[in-house]
Amino acid sequence: MTVYTCPKGHASEESDFCDTCGSKIGAAPSPEAVTIPDSSPKSSSEPPCPHCGAPRGGSARFCEDCGYDHSTGRVPQLDSPLPGPPPGQWTATVFADRVYFDANEVDGVTFPDGAPEQTVTLPAPQVRIGRSSSSKGTTPDLDLTEDPGVSHNHALLTLTIDGQWLVSDLGSTNGTYLNDEDAPLTAGQSRTLKDGDQVHVGIWTTITLHAPSG
Ligand SMILES: [Zn+2]
Ligand SMILES: [Zn+2]
Repeated sequence: MTVYTCPKGHASEESDFCDTCGSKIGAAPSPEAVTIPDSSPKSSSEPPCPHCGAPRGGSARFCEDCGYDHSTGRVPQLDSPLPGPPPGQWTATVFADRVYFDANEVDGVTFPDGAPEQTVTLPAPQVRIGRSSSSKGTTPDLDLTEDPGVSHNHALLTLTIDGQWLVSDLGSTNGTYLNDEDAPLTAGQSRTLKDGDQVHVGIWTTITLHAPSG
């Protein structure tokens, strides 16, 4: 049913003259198709937070659970910085060291020509150096299985709270050597490492420490 509105506001079923007061209905009778008023009740249930699904308390702008901003649709970043980007990490270059190999003069072992050099990031707080062994259950962080002179539990790199890496020998069979020192580290002894220091283990492996750049 189409309802017309006369100039005085009556609803009229006639399109030309108001059936209540007789006034002429406007020249351009806009059929005032009854617009259904916005039926969404303001008061009751607001949709839950689209970010975390928590029920929204009234028409609060921010989600109490996750901070979602219902007016902008964003999750605000925390003002306080998160436990910031980790300080630069030390890395180590691990390679088959011909010079060290030659100095060891081990009979019956062939130097692994062409063995790839690898650079690893030293994960805090410690790096176990050794050879993996399923029978002994050792899974070192730095696995030097290729080098037959490396013990299963050979050496340990430890990061101190001062940010310094220490190297210690874990009672390896063939010893852990620092730079060009003749004597190996004694078991349990720790030595501070600085940028460029070289740790020698096994028959040919040299580990060069690199301080974080910048
Ligand atoms: Zn009227
Ligand atoms: Zn939320």
